[in-house]
Amino acid sequence: MNIISTNPVTNSVIGETNTSSPEDIHQKVENAHSVQEDWTSLGVTGRVDILRDVLRLFKEHLDEIGVLSTQSMGMPSSLRHTLDLDAGIEYFEWYLENALESLKPEISFEDSTSLNTVFYEPTGVAAVISPWNFPFCTFIWQVIPNLVVGNTVVFKHASECILVGKLIEDIFSSSKLPKGVFSEVYGGGEVGDILIHEDIDLISFTGSTTVGKHIASVGAEKLIKVLLELGGSGPGVVFEDADMDKVAEAVFFNRFANSGQICDGLKRLIVHKNIADKVGQILVKMLQSKKVGDPQDISIDIGPLASIKQADGLKEQVDDATSKGAKVLIGGKKPASLSEAFFEPTLLSNLTTDMKVWQEEVFGPVLPIVTFESEEEAINLANDTVYGLGGYLFTEDKDKAERVATKLKTGMISVNGTLYLHPSSPFGGYKKSGLGREHGKYGFHELCQLKVVATEK
Ligand code: NAP
Repeated sequence: MNIISTNPVTNSVIGETNTSSPEDIHQKVENAHSVQEDWTSLGVTGRVDILRDVLRLFKEHLDEIGVLSTQSMGMPSSLRHTLDLDAGIEYFEWYLENALESLKPEISFEDSTSLNTVFYEPTGVAAVISPWNFPFCTFIWQVIPNLVVGNTVVFKHASECILVGKLIEDIFSSSKLPKGVFSEVYGGGEVGDILIHEDIDLISFTGSTTVGKHIASVGAEKLIKVLLELGGSGPGVVFEDADMDKVAEAVFFNRFANSGQICDGLKRLIVHKNIADKVGQILVKMLQSKKVGDPQDISIDIGPLASIKQADGLKEQVDDATSKGAKVLIGGKKPASLSEAFFEPTLLSNLTTDMKVWQEEVFGPVLPIVTFESEEEAINLANDTVYGLGGYLFTEDKDKAERVATKLKTGMISVNGTLYLHPSSPFGGYKKSGLGREHGKYGFHELCQLKVVATEK
């Protein structure tokens, strides 16, 4: 059976590929095992040398990947370099430049007679499963560090961007990477499910919390390491002294860019009561200046959602809010002039915490706004979620920012829009946003076995 990729704007088929059979999947895992020792024995420097060739090829094919991503999941062509392609390359380069330093042995104990040295060793064969929202970046974030530390990888991309996945495999095949070190399987969740039940040593999963829980249960049964990067409902707290330009820019990039399909995005705006009207007006004006439409048009700021299914789910969340009394400041529905996968950029006020837009992850261009009076109330609202991925604070008072940052139950916090995203900084979440961290030495170490060797002096 074939798996089909459709363009969310036109709903037309853009390509297809064969679904991997259980036998294919099994074979790829076996191949990954058979080359794992050789891949490990190259050492960090040997692996990095080969991966430099892979990097060169990805740079050559970057535009092709971008065009396919826009066609498959609707990322605006005006933003795809900033949001996905260039970011992916930046991380890839960082991993290669910093591998040796991050993975060098460390002395954990030393006295006059003995020395304990910690070695970072590969874990083995990693099953890596990605979502569709950043088709290039998430693949880079999950796969390249595994290869750097010496794991071999069997990868499954999301069905929405199966053609990007196919191109990724073709690029690897034309590189100097030994066969079997990276391979790919194709299909929906059922293919991912077969993969994680295979004889693997590690699962690296990025996606929804619902599927993440299932992955964790399979990992628990096998007693293997599971790294989970899951959903989020990032709070953005706007204090009275906030710089409004910084708020508007951060709200666009962290909520509306990529049609709001950003895991660690700013998904609930918590604004001081005295400035709520002003913030609402500024954000309405900002959104009125943005163009919504075909993401292939370079002048478009906001494209469709990745699929009609995503847009329908979003509509259900917004309808639930309005039926319970939320006020629509702008947007609120699917635009009549565009196809079914679009949803108007939307701001909602008059929120109550029983609404789905407050309680669930909202994966689309919709921002609920609530108000607060005291710092304590703002912190309680910010933490009133099962998630804990990104958090955003807006204030010119550095002490206040530091104080509140220590109280937020999130893995990452941005103050006044300053990005926490950097290849050397850990990425990941508290609570139901996941387990473990990606990036930096922290991310490399998550993928390794630690071995201590005690020697006489
Ligand atoms: P999803 O439904 O959980 O799917 C993610 C991946 O898992 C896809 O490749 C999917 O395959 C596969 N999958 C589905 N069921 C599976 C199963 N039973 N066993 C193994 N694999 C299975 O998530 P999504 O809707 O694609 O992505 C959106 C979610 O990802 C959001 O919640 C977002 O916040 C989260 N996300 C988190 C991060 C982070 O770093 N924390 C980054 C990006 C996205 P198919 O697509 O083929 O069904």
